[in-house]
Amino acid sequence: MAGISDLKWSSDFVSQTPGDNTEENFPRQVLNACWSHAIPSIVPNPKMIVWSKEMAKILKIDKIETDLLSGNNLCTGMAPYAQCYGGHQFGSWAGQLGDGRAITLGEINSEFGKLELQLKGSGTTPYSRFADGKSVLRSSIREFLCSEAMHHLGVPTTRALSLCTTGEMITRDVLYDGNPSAEEGAIVCRVAPSFIRFGSFQIHAFRGDIDSLRSLVNYTIKTHFSHINSSGDQLLIDWLKEVVESTASMIIHWMRVGFVHGVMNTDNMSIHGLTIDYGPYGWIENYDSHWTPNITDISTARYRFGQQSNIAGWNLARLLESISPLFNNTDELHNLMLHYDEYFSKEYENMWCKKLGILEYDAKLIEDLIQLFHENEVDMTIFFRKLAIINQSNFSSISESFYSGKLSQDWINWLTQYLEYIIPKREKIMNSINPKYVLRNWMVQLAIEKAENKDYSLLNELFEVIKLPYDEQFDFESKWYQKRPDWAKNKVGCSMLSCSS
Ligand code: AMP
Ligand code: MG
Repeated sequence: MAGISDLKWSSDFVSQTPGDNTEENFPRQVLNACWSHAIPSIVPNPKMIVWSKEMAKILKIDKIETDLLSGNNLCTGMAPYAQCYGGHQFGSWAGQLGDGRAITLGEINSEFGKLELQLKGSGTTPYSRFADGKSVLRSSIREFLCSEAMHHLGVPTTRALSLCTTGEMITRDVLYDGNPSAEEGAIVCRVAPSFIRFGSFQIHAFRGDIDSLRSLVNYTIKTHFSHINSSGDQLLIDWLKEVVESTASMIIHWMRVGFVHGVMNTDNMSIHGLTIDYGPYGWIENYDSHWTPNITDISTARYRFGQQSNIAGWNLARLLESISPLFNNTDELHNLMLHYDEYFSKEYENMWCKKLGILEYDAKLIEDLIQLFHENEVDMTIFFRKLAIINQSNFSSISESFYSGKLSQDWINWLTQYLEYIIPKREKIMNSINPKYVLRNWMVQLAIEKAENKDYSLLNELFEVIKLPYDEQFDFESKWYQKRPDWAKNKVGCSMLSCSS
């Protein structure tokens, strides 16, 4: 039996990028550094609640060491640190942010490449500002389940290895309305090639610290993009082109499965094109391009479902700006933004063809469908599974995906036209990219409410459901292949989420 203490740990990020000279843990501006030393806080009574066997298999471990995964102990080879980064929050430069409650334990060289193990919720760091460095059970369950759900859906994402409770009560004001309450603390151990973000580069560029910027760029390319073998400006272009493409692909996956991140600040954009930092995210139930799950975002809906590709483009522009001081000639950088638009459009059209089971993209067909979605309140997930099996003589099952309205003449016209476009045997193709089970907002909320009363049965059940999202899983159908129930329509945690976590 091997646990993480038996792994061979390395610490390339710490040894190859500039670090903070100060070792003490107090909030401060950290200059000329990519990271600060940080030791996880001791927690009173850690209990392992759930862990991912699939992630453990990748790490080649089969033993779960609660003392290490709660931060109560460290093992030989770990070099824990908190990363320094900045970010644009809701379109405005926010200055230094950094890992205020995340501590990377170290790196493992797995057969899938380098993987960082990071504890989220393990106490204050130099980047904690005014906050406590901790996480509550509610938000930890949301991160654990959703990152694993995304992985099984085939969406690029950071992963989760484990979730433990800490035995400590933490105060949070969920709706920011002056009604704080005590919630149980928890720690998620998450895993990714790295947790380097767009904001990791921005902070140095904004400070005019070109040495740290160059050091981080060199490290990132050498460590994570080592297959690129050009040099000079071309090396930077080739690297950034990959970031542009992986970011575009990630957003297209989000649009495919109906995921809304909710806080696409530049500090929440992974340099690997992975979905990162699961906060007030949500899942589209009735297809609504204007929906944002984040109550902080309600007034402008900057991070709404249908806006995600534009925001990713805006964030990429901020990344390119911050790398621009390293170029001799920046002309090519403009072409990268054009490349984003072209690449996104082409892949987005491909995605729609597969979703619909048609051979050629037809903009009008898809525009008309989206308009009908908005007129009728149609459940996105159920609709595409029903669409895969309709035929000329039977459209009726489509209306099972409607929250309101009925199968109008406009719908019949659209479906009739659609059937003229379909490819043979479309059901199999469509069902392999249109999931039957997604982590609907109310599903995870039900699991949280039970877990807060120490009943983890629903958490474990959902963890099983999300592992085979495209399969029929008939045993789960009547419970989880369902439209949003009425009680969830305007409920906190279901339709409305906050950043409080
Ligand atoms: P997020 O909204 O989770 O992306 O966090 C934005 C910034 O706030 C990051 O620098 C986080 O590390 C920091 N942060 C969020 N919650 C806490 C907390 N409870 N304690 C310390 N820092 C936090
Ligand atoms: Mg964040």
